[in-house]
Amino acid sequence: MALTVMVVEDELKIRELLRSYLEREGWAVLTTGSGAEAITLAQSSAPDLVILDLGLPDVSGETVATEIRRSSSTPILMLTARASEEDRIRGLELGADDYVTKPFSPREVMLRAHAILRRGRDGGSTRGRSFGGREIVIDEDRHEVVVRGGTVELTPTEWGILTALATRPGRVYSRLELLNRVRGFEFASERTVDSHVKNLRRKLERDPHDPTIVETVLGAGYRLGLTRDD
Ligand code: CA
Repeated sequence: MALTVMVVEDELKIRELLRSYLEREGWAVLTTGSGAEAITLAQSSAPDLVILDLGLPDVSGETVATEIRRSSSTPILMLTARASEEDRIRGLELGADDYVTKPFSPREVMLRAHAILRRGRDGGSTRGRSFGGREIVIDEDRHEVVVRGGTVELTPTEWGILTALATRPGRVYSRLELLNRVRGFEFASERTVDSHVKNLRRKLERDPHDPTIVETVLGAGYRLGLTRDD
């Protein structure tokens, strides 16, 4: 199940920038430019994370945070143009889990978001999508793959390939498509996909020479050979 992130920010540009980054993580994104609407949405949609700008035109970000905190423990990442120590501390006191000062890099926001969600989960429930009768379990939040019960470390590129394939098990993804879907891969050639797949198989497959998880479809590309457990 995809995580839902709510972005509360009245500046359209920033809102849409964050949306595109968050969606690339495979997260569902709700956005609003209104603090009042944010309070309502937080209750009706129960997002897994709120990214909240402090400077809103209607209701202040502080009030939104306080209201959200009143009824839930949804993690809050604050965006603030105010750089003073006092403002930051105040934000954290209001129940924000972390803050990023504007102007920010979207990557930094993503790192913080991941960190917050990871923290939240450490005491929480087990998430993850499992495939092939739990032969592999992919936990997008932890960025972790469990293969036949053991956690396996993947490089970001291997992770990107596997999660792309797992979006739709059985569907064939061409090398080019995989290149396009894996971030930071822009300048690589289609051949590099093959070498990453080779490494991925070494980590995942019982027999890397007879792969059943990352299958080759001759002349077409790769697909996940497992079906999703439900
Ligand atoms: Ca603003």
